[in-house]
Amino acid sequence: MILDREAARRLDEADPLAPCRASFLIPEGITYLDGNSLGPLTAAAARRIARVVDEEWGRGLIRSWSESGWIDLPRAVGAKIGRLIGARPEEVVVADSTSINLWKLLAAALALAGGRRVVLAAEDDFPTDLYMMEGLARLLGDRCALRRTADPVSALDSEVAVLALTHVHYKSGELRDLTAVTAAAHAAGALVLWDLAHSAGAVPIDLDAAGADFAVGCGYKFLNGGPGAPAFLFVAGRHLGAAESFLPGWMGHADPFAFERSYRPAPGIARFRCGTPPVLSLAALDAALDVLLAAPWADLREKAMALGDLFLDLVEARLRGHGFSPACPRDAARRGSQVSLHHPAGHAIVRALACRGVLGDFRAPDVLRFGLAPLYLRFVDVWDAVEGLRQVMDDRAWDRPEHRRRGVVT
Ligand SMILES: *Cc1c(COP(=O)(O)O)cnc(C)c1O
Repeated sequence: MILDREAARRLDEADPLAPCRASFLIPEGITYLDGNSLGPLTAAAARRIARVVDEEWGRGLIRSWSESGWIDLPRAVGAKIGRLIGARPEEVVVADSTSINLWKLLAAALALAGGRRVVLAAEDDFPTDLYMMEGLARLLGDRCALRRTADPVSALDSEVAVLALTHVHYKSGELRDLTAVTAAAHAAGALVLWDLAHSAGAVPIDLDAAGADFAVGCGYKFLNGGPGAPAFLFVAGRHLGAAESFLPGWMGHADPFAFERSYRPAPGIARFRCGTPPVLSLAALDAALDVLLAAPWADLREKAMALGDLFLDLVEARLRGHGFSPACPRDAARRGSQVSLHHPAGHAIVRALACRGVLGDFRAPDVLRFGLAPLYLRFVDVWDAVEGLRQVMDDRAWDRPEHRRRGVVT
């Protein structure tokens, strides 16, 4: 049990991942525990954006679509992400947002489901996922029924077309067993669509080994692609011939610059592209991924688990009597790269903590959330975060009027 800052510092000295922090531009005086919501800027992404703006856009102009390979970026960046999620290059493409990709793949999965019409989901899953499912169900009328339950895996039956789940829960940080759940869905004759928003880049994933059918995920969270970075989508190779896009934009056409009157799908994953890609964001994501891909993955997961255990140990030891309780699994093997705590004054506490340079976030109604990205976080950062919490509680800094107002973004 670590009870002083010096012991945390010694852990950092022995950490094989410590040099990776230098790749990130974390501002002085900030303890950044929100990389699960917006990954920080890497030096590589900053350099790359400057180059794309000045040289490729500034000087190359329209020629850069070909000469700088802009048109190929969605596939090239998808292939890199594939290495982080256990997918082959031809199974992943970067496009649109996670919300839109979810809609596209849900529609594709339903069309493949041989007359089954139930979409099965967890009732407390991330809202945009549920909203997208509701929208598609409204559009399809009798051909789709949404079933939301607390325990979707045990609700699998012969009516289920698609089981759609997040791999790591956004609030509790709970990590589902991707392999076991995929196998259970397949045993019931259903397809699976995974949302990897909170796991890609944080937890080792092997979609191909698990036999997963479809997946989506975010570019701006643990992949560090920058605010509003495009998302990715995965379609298992065995579905690529038959899976259809029902948002068939010209960039998913077999020959976009033939300007044909009717849509002809591109062969393979490219058909799930829709419109023109956001090149600046894609370039930033591309550069940020190189940092992640160069890291030793076994160490990454191990350190993330150790950071989480330290956080929860320190909360138990140093915040006793202040009204916190864990909102995440205590067992590190069942947790993604985040910890979360319940507290009735959670929102005000997160704001007061931010005034001390410790940035986490808040999820209604009462969850404080702290992302633990092992590439740039140190054990002393965890120490400082819990020490900040202790101070905010001890001097009741949270209980001030300015911390009570809720912003648009929490
Ligand atoms: C962050 C997140 C999203 C975000 O979707 P956008 O379309 O990028 O806004 C979707 N699903 C889950 C589970 C998330 O955590």
